[in-house]
This record gives sequence, structure tokens and C-alpha cells, in this order.
Amino acid sequence: MNKCPIDERKLIQLGLYKNCKDYPDMEIYYCPCCDIAFMNVIEQSQNTMVQWRRVDGELKLREQDQHIKSKYGKKVWEVRESNLYRWVNEYIQTRAIAGEYGYGSGTGSYCPNDGSKAKIFEATVIDSGVKIRIIWCIWCKEGNLYCLDKLYGWEKVAKVRKIQEERYEAVELYETGSRMQYSESWIKTINLSGS
Ligand SMILES: [Zn+2]
Ligand SMILES: [Zn+2]
Repeated sequence: MNKCPIDERKLIQLGLYKNCKDYPDMEIYYCPCCDIAFMNVIEQSQNTMVQWRRVDGELKLREQDQHIKSKYGKKVWEVRESNLYRWVNEYIQTRAIAGEYGYGSGTGSYCPNDGSKAKIFEATVIDSGVKIRIIWCIWCKEGNLYCLDKLYGWEKVAKVRKIQEERYEAVELYETGSRMQYSESWIKTINLSGS
């Protein structure tokens, strides 16, 4: 997991440029907690991380980071910077949208194993108010469990499998940017009838 250099929270990787003949490799990140975009420029395994901070509602490359532009031609730089703005905006606008087009929904509403249309089960955990959903495959008898965070949107938190009739178990847990963790009570909250 790539961590934000400011608050150590999970960074969302939005883009990657590799093996361009004339320019160093580049990775684009965003920290939802800091609302800062990062560009990591990699030259001979040397990393330079520059930041776009929000000024009057717009992300702006910091004054002390402007030097990074000189490593790229003017045209190349303009395209990459406008992609950075677009990707950050898309992330912000879609992170909380559940379903096929939602950022956090990963593979969407299809089973990653066999591509069949998955069932979606949703619930709100009563004590915490956390919204959860399972993208479930009736053929594999398993699904991915997601939870919704205000900053990180929908994040995959566990893989769940049907062990026997009305018995489900998390068989794999995933680290989330929101630091929300799977709890057994979640699977009991969701009505999985028809699974
Ligand atoms: Zn941060
Ligand atoms: Zn399946």
C-alpha cells in the first residue's frame, strides 16, 4: 500500500506512465484525507514526489515543485497535468457511486471468476450506520463485501463464502484506506436470501 507522506493514509493510484523513451516514469496519486494530488517522478530509482494543493477550490502545483515541469516537454506536460486534474475529479465524483461504474466497485457487478451477472445485497449496519454491500455470485457461492466511507468511497473489505445453508464466513480480508474492518456482525446484517 502506498502511503501519503503527510498523514500516512492510503494513497489512491490514479495513473502510471512507464517506459516512455524520452521522459522519466511517473505515477499519479491522490490522498482523499488531505485532498492533495501527488506525482511521483522516477529517475534511476530516484523518486521525486511533487504536490498539487487546493487553492480557491482548484488544485495547483506548489511553487517549490514547479521545477519538475522541465523534465517533460511543454506539450507532454500539459497533457499529463490535465489528465491528473481529470482523474482526481473523476475519483471524487464517483467514489461513492455503487455499481458497475463506481470507482470502488472494482470488477463491477460481475463475478470475477466466471463473469456471470452477480447479485447485489445491501444493508446498513445498525450500530455504526456503515453502508455495506455484497456483490455475490450464486454459482461460486461467494462474493466480495464492500463498505462505504465518506472519503474513500466503496472499498472492498472482505471475500465472503457460503459454508453451508445460512452460514457465511469471511475467507479473505483486505486493508482499506478508511481503516474500516470487517466484522462478523456485518454478514448477519445483510439478508442473503436467494444466495
Ligand atoms: Zn494524506
Ligand atoms: Zn462466480
